[in-house]
Amino acid sequence: MKDKANSFMKDFNSPSCMVGDWNFKAPHIEKITGEEYFKRVDEKTKEIINGLEKAQKNQVSTAEEALIRIKKRNIERYIKIVAIERINTFNQIVIKKKFKNDDEAKEVYKNIDDYICSEIGCSIDELMDIRNDDMVKKEKNKIDELHKKYSTKKSSSKKGEFQFIDFSEFYYWHFDKTKNGNICCYCGVNQDELNKLENNNPMNKLKRITRGKTLEIERIISFPEDKNIYSKENCDYACHVCNNAKSDFISPNEFYLIAKGISEMWKSKNIKCDFNEDNLYWKIEY
Ligand SMILES: [Zn+2]
Repeated sequence: MKDKANSFMKDFNSPSCMVGDWNFKAPHIEKITGEEYFKRVDEKTKEIINGLEKAQKNQVSTAEEALIRIKKRNIERYIKIVAIERINTFNQIVIKKKFKNDDEAKEVYKNIDDYICSEIGCSIDELMDIRNDDMVKKEKNKIDELHKKYSTKKSSSKKGEFQFIDFSEFYYWHFDKTKNGNICCYCGVNQDELNKLENNNPMNKLKRITRGKTLEIERIISFPEDKNIYSKENCDYACHVCNNAKSDFISPNEFYLIAKGISEMWKSKNIKCDFNEDNLYWKIEY
């Protein structure tokens, strides 16, 4: 057992992980028997092997890598709590943690930061480091921009029309729809390609000041009216041209030929466009 630990220790080369005098608690004042000494060595060895085996399973071989992994995990948790779940009131903590009221939550957490630290599993100093990290700030700003889109859409929707449960649901919907690029769900034009339109292009002169610069949230099924809702099942991203052309009474099935034409139009402007013949939306009829 000890040999195994020693061989692991060769890889585990951070000074903070070196075996010190952990086998003696305050050696100058404590006298222990030989038996007790070996018991402590054995316990500590088991702990080290256990930790290192876990580290190996996660494909990390050094303490530095393990620390990087922990930092990455902490940042992911921070982003989830602060930017995606947007926890900033005690009332949200009450709901999330199923407390009876604010007072009960305040008995457990001193303040919001205390809650965030507890959820991440970090100290207040570590939380400050994460908060001031430039990459983290950048990522948070990106999500805040998406949150603005979400809020605008939500507040401009008619009663009952906007059915995303909360921003988290919207965020994961967006994440899913854009994981292979930000692409129009009908004609297949890619946002990166649209960005290439020259400033003197008429497309830029018309509505691109307010609309058309970025893909828009499109409701796939728009008829009958009670089905014409914003939800994770019924929404996808569409370019301004497709969104404008597909009025509420045209079914996705009927829109197939129009979308194909729009795709050709983009190609004629030297904008790459991957029209998908196998798109399941083409099967939806009203
Ligand atoms: Zn399109």
